[in-house]
Amino acid sequence: MKLERAEILCVGTEILIGDIINTNAAWLSKELSSLGISQYHQAVIGDNSQRLAETVSDTLKNCDLLVITGGLGPTYDDITKETVAKVLNKNLVFDEDVYYDIKDFFRKRERKMTENNRKQAYIIEGAHILKNDMGTAPGLLCETGEKIVVLLPGPPSELMPMWTNYVKPQIQKYCDKIFVSKNVNIVGIGEAAVADVLDEMMKNAVNPTIAPYCKTGETRLRVTASAKTKEEAAAMCDEVIEEIKKTKIGEYIYGIDTDLAEAVVKELTKRGLKIATAESCTGGLIAKMITDVPGSSAVLEGGMVAYSNSVKYRALNVSSSLLDRHGPYDHKVAVQMAEGICRLMDADVGIGVTGIAGPGGGTREKPVGFVYIAVAYNKKSSVMKYKFGEKQSRDRIRELTAANAFINVLEMLKNQK
Ligand code: ATP
Repeated sequence: MKLERAEILCVGTEILIGDIINTNAAWLSKELSSLGISQYHQAVIGDNSQRLAETVSDTLKNCDLLVITGGLGPTYDDITKETVAKVLNKNLVFDEDVYYDIKDFFRKRERKMTENNRKQAYIIEGAHILKNDMGTAPGLLCETGEKIVVLLPGPPSELMPMWTNYVKPQIQKYCDKIFVSKNVNIVGIGEAAVADVLDEMMKNAVNPTIAPYCKTGETRLRVTASAKTKEEAAAMCDEVIEEIKKTKIGEYIYGIDTDLAEAVVKELTKRGLKIATAESCTGGLIAKMITDVPGSSAVLEGGMVAYSNSVKYRALNVSSSLLDRHGPYDHKVAVQMAEGICRLMDADVGIGVTGIAGPGGGTREKPVGFVYIAVAYNKKSSVMKYKFGEKQSRDRIRELTAANAFINVLEMLKNQK
């Protein structure tokens, strides 16, 4: 058997109506790619037995591996196992060992097992049982001739270890190549311009392939190679990345397989510098993103949400007459916030942001999305004005502000070697 083409089918009305985001499909897609298994489609199906049966039987005609998630629970609307059994023409059989594990799960947690949990001890006859180390519903792996159908529980905390520990080792033997992707992180030049510079290279790239895409505040190039081993594929990616670095894009590359916050932490660590943030419209997001990076305690002194004018004045020493005359959305206010937080927290680098995240509150001159970002370092301060767009959501304006604050810190450090 050879697994070349997979489909992911996620079951759950709550996904269809947008109550939950289909993170299982995103996570599994990466896993399948890393095994060199391609996907052409994905589907989401509500908790409806007939539609699920039709989709399973149609999908099976077009793939070698079908991964179905969700609907393995104990309640009446958990219909995946029963439906797949019907499509595969198999019976459900009661498994004493699975039943023991379920009882054991409740016993260890001193919880009472309800009668409907017994339903989870029924398995599709002939299927391999995939142990659920984090919950009660076991997964199933059914081999039917030249195809494999895998049933996984919906909760990501149960699905991910089950896939990693029990599914991947079983299917790996049917995959003869693996895929490795590396991301080239670029700032200061847009996706279209990147694609323009690399047009020839991208068109001729077969293995590895090169694909540009956008991330908040930056452009990325995904370089993907397939080979027999991970090391071989990684080396093929590195070779192409070296070629990319030699083009005009080279000067805009700030890292490989990283992100802006991580790059800032790395750069500050390398230089032995400390940073502090004074945030208004981002409400602490920049400091939060820095603390998301492991090892950030080596560089982050602290952060302050300086929301009101009075805190800007009292805590950061922003000029009260400046605030009175120009209000908080002013370039000098941003600079004084960045310098003030440096002084207050004894940091080498300070970030100051002030702006209007909306919705509402903007004016003609300073509409929603109007933001100043200042960076203070080494007795110098820089400030940039942004208009992220009146139609952008509050969250998006904050994300763009944080991304650009990091870009400006990197820029400031680069210019002051
Ligand atoms: P349970 O025993 O918890 O009922 P189950 O296998 O029946 O497990 P579902 O009932 O379909 O799974 O989903 C349970 C929960 O798992 C959902 O409420 C949701 O929080 C999460 N979940 C399900 N499917 C997905 C998905 N595709 N992506 C992200 N989360 C999911």
